[in-house]
Amino acid sequence: MAKKNIDWSGLGFGYVKTDKRFVSEYKNGHWDEGRLTDDEKIVINECAGVLQYAQTVFEGLKAYTTVDGHIVTFRPDLNAARLEDSAKRLEIPPYPQDKFIDAVVKTVEANQDYVPPYGTGATLYVRPYIFGSSPVIGVKPAEEYQFRIFTTPVGPYFKGGAKPITIRVSDYDRAAPHGTGHIKAGLNYAMSLYQIVDAHNQGFDENMYLDPATRTKVEETGGANFLFITKDKTVVTPKSSSILPSITRRSLMYVAEHYLGLKVEHREVAFEELKDFEECGLCGTAAVISPVGKIYDHGREICFPSGMDDMGPVTKELYETLTGIQMGRIEAPEGWIKVIK
Ligand SMILES: *Cc1c(COP(=O)(O)O)cnc(C)c1O
Repeated sequence: MAKKNIDWSGLGFGYVKTDKRFVSEYKNGHWDEGRLTDDEKIVINECAGVLQYAQTVFEGLKAYTTVDGHIVTFRPDLNAARLEDSAKRLEIPPYPQDKFIDAVVKTVEANQDYVPPYGTGATLYVRPYIFGSSPVIGVKPAEEYQFRIFTTPVGPYFKGGAKPITIRVSDYDRAAPHGTGHIKAGLNYAMSLYQIVDAHNQGFDENMYLDPATRTKVEETGGANFLFITKDKTVVTPKSSSILPSITRRSLMYVAEHYLGLKVEHREVAFEELKDFEECGLCGTAAVISPVGKIYDHGREICFPSGMDDMGPVTKELYETLTGIQMGRIEAPEGWIKVIK
């Protein structure tokens, strides 16, 4: 076995077929043992629940090489728990959490030649998902499901340094109150595509969604949570029942408090408060933190004092500490790093 001949640092964020994927099928009320397969194609009925009524949920995590050469993943137990929460909300039978972790380990092991070497900035993205596979035409949950995991090597999120981005306040909502904003479901992404294409056409990098009920509070973007830094260096993240609970955001809050000794607040954030913050960032697995330099709201600009050239200083410290923990340069809290080999 030898690492694949890939230009790791030149990779983008796209699908690259790897050798093995995991599949487990749910039939007659239970999940089977599951297996690895070479076949990247899925054959399902034309009337499958996922195709007709979008009955599918997913997760996203990364496997990567640490400074001492181990292949690891970061807090996969939280992905297992979140997938269960997402599944329950869409009447999908949850995949057992311990088996989820085993399946992640097996799939990464089977594709270890695609795990980028330390120092390239690249990682092996791991995508677990569940979907209704049996025919459904009257509206009800499917009777059969597949749980799958594929992997794809992805390049460094920031090529040539993390430049702050510009986001705009969207005129559309991402999630309804008491809806599905808090689960990781493809349906939340399907309805955001129109807005993101439009944002890009207008020259913006991302959409900021406000709370759908009052449109006065900050929620998140299409795929990342917000984090703000106040003048007195408190780390503030928005709280709402329609925000997806980002594992990166939860980890950063812990790091802020226990590694950097900063004050942290997880609370409602009024849009009107934004002008008083020093720094802003987006957090998620892909980038860990993307710095935000500017927010555009219908002709009005909110420019963060950290500017458009670099990550703000506190954001940068958070970023360096969490990526240091992930890469094995800084000691991790108990249970955060799952060593695969
Ligand atoms: C996946 C996701 C995030 C980021 O979550 P992480 O666990 O940090 O990767 C944030 N918002 C939405 C809507 C998401 O789907």
